[in-house]
Amino acid sequence: MLDHSRSQEIMDRARQLMPGGVNSPVRAFKAVGGNPLVIASASGARMTDVDGNSYIDYVGTWGPAILGHADPDVIAAITAAAQQGTSFGAPSVRENELAELVIELMPSLEKVRFVNSGTEATMSALRLARGATGRDDIVKFDGCYHGHADSLLVKAGSGVETLGLPDSPGVPADFAKHTLTLPYNDLAAAKALFEQKGKEIACVILEPVVGNMGCIPPVEGFLEGLRELCDAHGAILIFDEVMTGFRVALGGAQARFDIRPDLTCFGKVIGGGLPVGAYGGRADLMDQMAPAGPIYQAGTLSGNPLAMAAGIATLKKLAEPGVFERLGKTCDRLVDGLEAAAAEAGIPICTARVGAMFGFYFQEGPVLNGDDARKSDTGRFGKWHAAMLEKGVYVAPSQFEAGFVSLAHDDATIDATIAAAREVMKTLA
Ligand code: PLP
Repeated sequence: MLDHSRSQEIMDRARQLMPGGVNSPVRAFKAVGGNPLVIASASGARMTDVDGNSYIDYVGTWGPAILGHADPDVIAAITAAAQQGTSFGAPSVRENELAELVIELMPSLEKVRFVNSGTEATMSALRLARGATGRDDIVKFDGCYHGHADSLLVKAGSGVETLGLPDSPGVPADFAKHTLTLPYNDLAAAKALFEQKGKEIACVILEPVVGNMGCIPPVEGFLEGLRELCDAHGAILIFDEVMTGFRVALGGAQARFDIRPDLTCFGKVIGGGLPVGAYGGRADLMDQMAPAGPIYQAGTLSGNPLAMAAGIATLKKLAEPGVFERLGKTCDRLVDGLEAAAAEAGIPICTARVGAMFGFYFQEGPVLNGDDARKSDTGRFGKWHAAMLEKGVYVAPSQFEAGFVSLAHDDATIDATIAAAREVMKTLA
């Protein structure tokens, strides 16, 4: 057994200082049991914990580390920026540079606003959609996560026509009732809802590939159908590409599936490991934001020079020729290997992969929506998670999180992972 005593000690103290000992709930390993590992350092495809154990990492700081951890060019860019000052609270040229890159790479973007997290991006995009349409209701999909803003921490009532319910104490029912939740990949349900309430719907927000209930790609026609519905009813289509942006393709899901959302939200990769979010889209919409327009949103640290520098260095490297082909091949090698390991052990799994993101469920599938995903054997996943950690592979501590590969995951790293998976799968039968 690996020694985790120092991690344990630090977490015991952390629980006295911070709720659950963490600053973001999923880090607490509640979904899989066991004690979280306290990380001392990360480099390339690996993380090292405070007890000195080294792990191949498929969490990648929940998405940002697409170049691998501590990429030398990103570190150099941050260091150079820091030497010129860590925050100005005034315009700086790196903001233009990152904005130009993002607008160039993302097909639907005409203007962009930088914020500090994915949550801020989605929250601000919703305000813009509501402000621009003068409508209050929003449509989201069961199993998609868009951060922790009040309007988005909402679960479906019983039936699509019913009002949304708060998904956390502290979310007022009066807010939640404006959030209408539908099953993912169900265009018929979306059509029925628009027929009934089309004039009250400000926007539809979705993950164009879902990464927050495992990994669920959109079925053919789903994204196109939502685009048409929004056009027909004067609603705004928002792609939450916080996870998929610069991840499922250089131009995100909108490039991969050739759909033009009105607004897009970003986070994770766009900041290269520093806290950056962004929202952007049609110029006529973006110009309704303050100070160009009347809809208010602001941020003391938004456009922070260190964060911009990390984002610029990351996107420039990602835009080099052949990068996404390489990431796709790495992901294929891994997921093919996982499928073979499961088949060899007689364990049913259902996999998905899109670009540099993947997932698998302990069930036959198919998995098209949240209800399907929740049929997975989470007990088996817990055992898989613990056994893979023991073999030096760090996978997300929940059946319902996507996995990520990076440019630092070379063939030898993938093959070592598959070798571990083959051994572990056999113990799960
Ligand atoms: N949207 C999606 C699709 C996400 O996956 C996340 C976070 O995981 C968010 C929004 C929220 O981003 P953040 O955690 O940066 O607030």
